[in-house]
Amino acid sequence: MAHRYNLYVRAHWLSIPLICGMLFSCGSSRPPVTLHDLARDYVYTFLSLHPSIATAAGYHTHPGLTLDDKLETFSQSEQDRLRDFLGDYRQRFRQLDAEALDPQERADYEMIQGHMRLVQIELDTLQPHRRNPTMYVELAGSAIHSLYTLNFAPLEERFDAIIARLGKIPALVEQAKRNLATSPEIWIQVALDENEGNRVMLMQELREACPPSRRVAYDTAAGIAVTSLQQLNAYLEQELSKHPDDWRLGREKFDAKFAAALGINSTPAEVLAEAESQLQAVRKRMFEIALPMHQKSRPGSKAELNTVVRETLNEIAKRHGTRESYMSDAQRDLEEAREFVRRKNIVPLPENDNLKIIPTPEFMRGIYSVGGFNPAPPLEPQLGAFYWLTPIPEDWPPARVESKLREYNYYGVKLLTIHEAIPGHYLQFEYANAIPSKTRRLLRSLFGNNPYIEGWAVYATETMLDEGFLDNDPQLRLTFLKQQLRMISNAILDIRLHTMNMTDEQAMDLMINQTFQEKEEATGKLRRAKLSSTQLCTYFTGWLEWRRLRESVQKTRGGSFNLAGFHREALEAGAVPMPQLQRLLSAAK
Ligand SMILES: [Zn+2]
Repeated sequence: MAHRYNLYVRAHWLSIPLICGMLFSCGSSRPPVTLHDLARDYVYTFLSLHPSIATAAGYHTHPGLTLDDKLETFSQSEQDRLRDFLGDYRQRFRQLDAEALDPQERADYEMIQGHMRLVQIELDTLQPHRRNPTMYVELAGSAIHSLYTLNFAPLEERFDAIIARLGKIPALVEQAKRNLATSPEIWIQVALDENEGNRVMLMQELREACPPSRRVAYDTAAGIAVTSLQQLNAYLEQELSKHPDDWRLGREKFDAKFAAALGINSTPAEVLAEAESQLQAVRKRMFEIALPMHQKSRPGSKAELNTVVRETLNEIAKRHGTRESYMSDAQRDLEEAREFVRRKNIVPLPENDNLKIIPTPEFMRGIYSVGGFNPAPPLEPQLGAFYWLTPIPEDWPPARVESKLREYNYYGVKLLTIHEAIPGHYLQFEYANAIPSKTRRLLRSLFGNNPYIEGWAVYATETMLDEGFLDNDPQLRLTFLKQQLRMISNAILDIRLHTMNMTDEQAMDLMINQTFQEKEEATGKLRRAKLSSTQLCTYFTGWLEWRRLRESVQKTRGGSFNLAGFHREALEAGAVPMPQLQRLLSAAK
């Protein structure tokens, strides 16, 4: 249910290779004055400081510098340089008259301001490099994995870059050991699990794929890197685990991060109140839909809401695939969704098809326990986008497999595929990646706003149902509403766990007894809620914003409102913060 970019931008901002002194001096000798020039310098300099993100964006060389063979590093002097970088750009942006910008420029301006605020909060307040071992583990994995999966150069050349990056992992591990002072137990556990995924990727998947001419060099570099990653594991288990701390962010930090990361006009307190009221409204609607189905299968029964809904959902969940058919079911559902979007003209589809469904890489399965979407590189969209589906592990006992398949049943996999792919994340990112200006494209894709992105995927799914997908099947609607409940409970969990000391028991009660989740799903969600903060609010807040936007545009345009036209316009803008999208559409009318 997640997409990948912002995780990276959030997790890896700290890294500054040694070259950045040179970049600063280049930049400051001839200060740009237009928004376009400033935005371009900011975006490309940021990428040059984050080589692993640059590779994923399709940005391989910065003037005078290759990036694919570099890796982020985390030292005190580099953090100081990042502070200087932010200070420098804050200064330069002050020279612009924001009120004089046109609506598109204003959106770019607001996005960069929001990004700078977020980076500053991470730098000064959240400091993940001191506390979060998953950041290092995921960086190591993703920096290597994107070189392997993105076919931007011949395999030999990409393996040369892989070998170069592998050579930098021992230094990364040394920095991790030096920087990590305390860590919540759960974060350590996830880092250990994901690091095992790194080992498997390096020793099996990549080893088998390595071209013969690079075999010796690869084996040497991978061997050293794996030994070093195992030393990191030993440090986490034997040292860091002696210094546990709390994964809860606390209200002050949460509120600051929420404002910078979400870019909406509501506060967490307002979102919580709205979510708790929607929770009851959706439960009531589910009861109304479930009751006729329930009475058919149990005539004369006078059960209350929880029983009626749960028993009906249990019936629906019986229709599911198998561990083996899981991937091919999703492929079939993708074609079905694509055909429906075309037939109903919900939104124009892009002509090319660069989407692949693949198993989630093992080192990412900690956070993507269900699936995820990995957009095509904004600067090289032809290289392809990936819909990750997390396979059901072969060593799971039958009862656990059954629980997962019941959650991702016939309807559940369809809804997941609509959300991740068409008309959800894949379609939205294809539009963003078609923005002609490369700077603007990077901003609105790589730096894209999360409530826009997640909100679109949820809103677009709802629109499919409203337009009659699967012949208005009430079982599909009930399954969707169950997912809406999960989305609502995600927001409640995020806010209550991080700012109101919600206990594990209260969280499990909310998920299992109020929102009908299976235990397996609820356990995974609780873990994710402790690994992330503010991210679980993006679905609910974004969905509300998209609903409100459509209502307001529909009202303003009256009889001339056209659904596909509205969707196309809103998607062509790219993932700007929702208040900016409202402005852009008002300016366009
Ligand atoms: Zn999503």
